[in-house]
Amino acid sequence: MATETERLEGLGEMRGLWDRLLALLDREVARILEKALAGEDIDVEEGTRLFQAEGLELNALVLVADELRRRRVGDIVTYVINRNINFTNVCIKHCGFCAFSRDHREEEGYFLPMEEVVRRAREAWELGATEVCIQAGLPPKMDGYYYVELTKAIKRELPDIHIHGFSPEEVLYGSIRAGCSIEDYLKALKEAGVGSLPGTSAEILDDEVRRRISPGRISVAQWVEVITTAHRLGIPTTATIMYGHVETERHKAAHIALIRDIQRQTGGFTEFVPLSFVHEEAPMWRKGLVPGVRPGATGAEVVKMYAVSRIMLNNWVANLQVSWVKEGPKLAQFCLNAGCNDFMGTLINESISTAAGAQYGQRMRPREMRRLIRDIGRIPAERTTTYEIRRVFPPDEDDHYDPLDLVEDETADQRFGSYHALVRRQDYRFRDLRELIQVQAVDRPVRRQA
Ligand code: SF4
Repeated sequence: MATETERLEGLGEMRGLWDRLLALLDREVARILEKALAGEDIDVEEGTRLFQAEGLELNALVLVADELRRRRVGDIVTYVINRNINFTNVCIKHCGFCAFSRDHREEEGYFLPMEEVVRRAREAWELGATEVCIQAGLPPKMDGYYYVELTKAIKRELPDIHIHGFSPEEVLYGSIRAGCSIEDYLKALKEAGVGSLPGTSAEILDDEVRRRISPGRISVAQWVEVITTAHRLGIPTTATIMYGHVETERHKAAHIALIRDIQRQTGGFTEFVPLSFVHEEAPMWRKGLVPGVRPGATGAEVVKMYAVSRIMLNNWVANLQVSWVKEGPKLAQFCLNAGCNDFMGTLINESISTAAGAQYGQRMRPREMRRLIRDIGRIPAERTTTYEIRRVFPPDEDDHYDPLDLVEDETADQRFGSYHALVRRQDYRFRDLRELIQVQAVDRPVRRQA
């Protein structure tokens, strides 16, 4: 154990190291990083400047982000055992970046009936999952109460599973189809058992960018309304950004600042999740629909996104999640050194990035996540959706196996189903099952507006 004198000497040495490093940098970048190290918030202009960092400045940015992460959340890196259930890919919208959605008439339009969604949730629960993440397309003529009834069906069978479900776009769609306010709809979802909302459908929170990449998508004001209403009702949410397409450095900094402003008011965000654009199959890339669109973020842009996010959000949002689905395990592992402290989830099924051309698989075993975390000298821990620690893994427990670790690769696709197999299956064709989207809702918990 270090004595007080040794501790103060250590701090002095650190201070000296930072001073020497900052003295080598561009004066403006050095000033911004010094401000961040002093625990102050940096503004949009300063964030924009950091997004332009190159060479030594970029390395310094990563070091500062890592230092702030260490001070705020220590060396534990968390993950959650969860399953994604994207119950339909049929959608009335045509977002330019989305390769997942299909028109209701298309051969590849699928729909998982409620009992299949419940079966998938039960299977995940039996394999140790604590969360199911429910998100899907927006099917035409859906009964507005469908999301509420689906939640109830899962909770009836699995009262203790956490339902992380329904993006702001889905909440808005559900409320419109139900003919009620966003607030009443969220109350109904909460009462049915939704534990938290994914803060997806954010992309870049700038209406001009949204009009270019996804005309007709939920607006910035509507996204903020759904999120802040959820927080007010005690429903936590995540926050996301999707980047690497047409946005500028300033758009990214302004987006992060908006997330920070919301968090100052509500405290309802559990984590921030940067997601880089997967371009290969995205219509706006493949069909050249949007002038100037880029083929996703470069490796340096990915690293900068995590580092600047940590620096801008550190005082407000403790948890920064890296996406192994978008970046692959190797780059994701490296980004744990650029401010991240969460390695996402096991997923079991992943459709949205896979449909867009991501190559990194549809599931990751907990044991593999623990190996990647340990390999860079950090401490793996399983968490709940809302970041309660379930179990910390000291080095002498590295030979631990979770039930999900024991599912063989060879049988996994057959057992869990894969996205590519699902779009080919005949028994889940949306056009044959579309009447199932009209639920037999017994009690309609949502009050209709006059
Ligand atoms: S991103 Fe969502 S709303 Fe947009 S087309 Fe895809 S499934 Fe539909």
